[in-house]
Amino acid sequence: MAWIDSHCHLDFSEFSEQSELYEHLLAADCDGVLVPATQAQYFERVVNFSQHFAKGRSDFVHMALGLHPYFLSQHQSHDLQLLDGQITRHQPCAVGEIGLDFMLDIDSHEAQVFYFEQQVLLAIKHKLPLIVHCRKAHDQLASLLRRLKFSFGGIIHGFSGSLVQAHKYLELGFVLGLGGALTYDRAQAMHKMVKALPHTAYVLETDSPDMAPAFAHGEVNSPLNVPQIAHHIARLRQEPLAHIYAHSTDNFRRVIIPKG
Ligand SMILES: [Zn+2]
Repeated sequence: MAWIDSHCHLDFSEFSEQSELYEHLLAADCDGVLVPATQAQYFERVVNFSQHFAKGRSDFVHMALGLHPYFLSQHQSHDLQLLDGQITRHQPCAVGEIGLDFMLDIDSHEAQVFYFEQQVLLAIKHKLPLIVHCRKAHDQLASLLRRLKFSFGGIIHGFSGSLVQAHKYLELGFVLGLGGALTYDRAQAMHKMVKALPHTAYVLETDSPDMAPAFAHGEVNSPLNVPQIAHHIARLRQEPLAHIYAHSTDNFRRVIIPKG
């Protein structure tokens, strides 16, 4: 049963044994990964990764390019022009990882909104979906998307918001990335939300190398943990594992259309 990791940073230095990892992923029935960039200085690294990791198989790595709010201090306004040019040149499948992280210092929020909004406008220009990182800003982010009349959908990665917020995103054409956070017993609110989601609502992800699931706590997270995350979702939703794989893959392919 094939599956996709809809969010992993496999270009990071933690994954230096790339050809070994690719073989392991194939052996574990992985059918693709989405690798988003986080800052301009690594655009080239992500592009390179996407061209070489899957050894000539062009539909395995889905690349996204964008400026992540976590690295705000690294961004400069001309990075937006650079991003525009790189999108034209390399045809990523999405703009990301972009978003709003209001857990970060309040002084950064205005600049975060600026970069997010500018990148949503680039996505509209290039007709691309978004890979979104959002913490403590779901309502602001959803209303921004609505104000900009954004209609290309995408993925709200690492989603742990409420069911009401989930439905707002679904109405906007987004799906929700479910990952390691839900494997923790203490994540009761999340368990409830995962149980109640429609089957068209979610995709699987790890956010590797970060966000290690409970069963791999303290380890470098890897897409190889997706099957165990899917097991948790199957148990929560009381559905066969095969359904979780099939729905999450369908949902991914509905919002992320392969390029190139
Ligand atoms: Zn990420």
